[in-house]
Amino acid sequence: MSRTEFILFDLDNTLYPRSCGLFDEIDRRINHYLKEFVGIREREVDFRRRSYMETHGTTLNGLMHYHGVEPGHYLDYVHDVDLGRYLDPDPELRALIAALPGRKYIFSNASAGHCRRVLEKLGLDDLFSAVYDIDFFAYRPKPRPEIYHELLAEIGGNPRNGVMVDDMAVNLEPAAALGMRTFHYLPEGNDGLPSCNRRILSLSELVDLVR
Ligand SMILES: [Mg+2]
Repeated sequence: MSRTEFILFDLDNTLYPRSCGLFDEIDRRINHYLKEFVGIREREVDFRRRSYMETHGTTLNGLMHYHGVEPGHYLDYVHDVDLGRYLDPDPELRALIAALPGRKYIFSNASAGHCRRVLEKLGLDDLFSAVYDIDFFAYRPKPRPEIYHELLAEIGGNPRNGVMVDDMAVNLEPAAALGMRTFHYLPEGNDGLPSCNRRILSLSELVDLVR
């Protein structure tokens, strides 16, 4: 049985529930960005976003590739949300993460500023050794396999002793391929799709599973 040296946490829709509405507002701001700043017609927005996600990993990467969007401008705009409307300190989650073994890191496709603000609002900012956001990887997002290698080299981690948690199964695949233990956080229950990852309904399950 391997020991857990480190745990990589996704941020959005993992450290706070989708049901709180924060990501819905970010989602609306992304749609608005495509319409107002890129000039994409309203009825095409959903299709474009799906297609950018499939071909480039994130909406941002598709916008950079096809429209020359400046990533800092996009990220500042979509994350310009009053977090206090959606998030409160979460002492339960804090106790749970603090009880987990090893170093903890954030591994997110959002910006560093957004990650730091969310962690501060939740009262979790001192629990993580570092935040690895999309800026750190020069705007290459999960699930691009090379950034998982770069992250492991950066933290000096052996993937066999590593754990990753994310609400999107596709982001876990490169981690599982490297030998990490992967947990697909699905608070709304099983999506019925085949997956190589262990499904968890609550982050509290990690306390037993990661030991
Ligand atoms: Mg997420």
